[in-house]
Amino acid sequence: MDLTGRVVLITGASRGIGRACALKMAELGACIAVNYSTNKEKAEEVVAEIKKMGKEACAIQADVTVQNEVEEMVKYTIKYLGSLDILVNNAGITRDTFLLRMNEKDWNIVLNTNLNGVFLVTKAASKYMIKQRYGKIINISSVVGIAANAGQANYAASKAGVIGFSKSIAKEFAPRNIMVNVVVPGFIDTDMTNNLTEQQKAEILKQIPLKRYGKPEDVANVVAFLASKESNYITGQIIHIDGGMNM
Ligand code: NAD
Repeated sequence: MDLTGRVVLITGASRGIGRACALKMAELGACIAVNYSTNKEKAEEVVAEIKKMGKEACAIQADVTVQNEVEEMVKYTIKYLGSLDILVNNAGITRDTFLLRMNEKDWNIVLNTNLNGVFLVTKAASKYMIKQRYGKIINISSVVGIAANAGQANYAASKAGVIGFSKSIAKEFAPRNIMVNVVVPGFIDTDMTNNLTEQQKAEILKQIPLKRYGKPEDVANVVAFLASKESNYITGQIIHIDGGMNM
């Protein structure tokens, strides 16, 4: 797989799965716009690692829930890196609690970040992709968006929403040569899952046929494939990366 000459924008790329995607795609030759919301230092570390590989990269601050910040981020990517060919909507959050304890704030912030954020960034990026008649959009959903989970109604709704959204725009954008796919990670060892108790982690492990948690690189490898020309005949698909958790 070769991504030489491609420009990739990844939201929430200063750590975890987003960071792994940035490094993998840079290794394959792409230039990377590393979006972050608050952690400038970590984002710049990712940029420095990419530059060490001899590839171009820049860190761009933007909250994916704020339309004008998102539009500026897309403009800056194109101005600084020369194009925008591949978008990875990775930024996401959880605010887990059972429904009767879930307040509107917990609900809104999760839907706003995980679903409205995907809408805003995709809309801004696709205006450019439509004009250039090429693009790849890869959205990160979750096993919870498919199989559900008690205590995660807000997160499950947002991640199921990402799937419906992605399939719809895959149909809309296919005539413009823009492919849209979704990856569905299971349990991946990142800061997001670090706050689970050992007991919760052990329970999850029992449900994974491959008997290990995923690594951010397991997700990044599939995202890189979906970004490459080797996947040019794939659109509107949901690819599970979960060690067999959900078959
Ligand atoms: P993470 O918490 O390490 O990364 C999420 C990133 O999103 C962080 O860098 C965070 O700063 C950024 N972010 C949050 N809100 C933002 C905003 N408003 N604007 C811009 N950036 C924002 O977690 P991760 O595990 O690397 O998660 C990456 C994606 O993968 C998320 O969408 C998550 O829902 C999804 N996912 C993770 C797992 C898992 O087990 N870790 C499983 C399924 C899906």
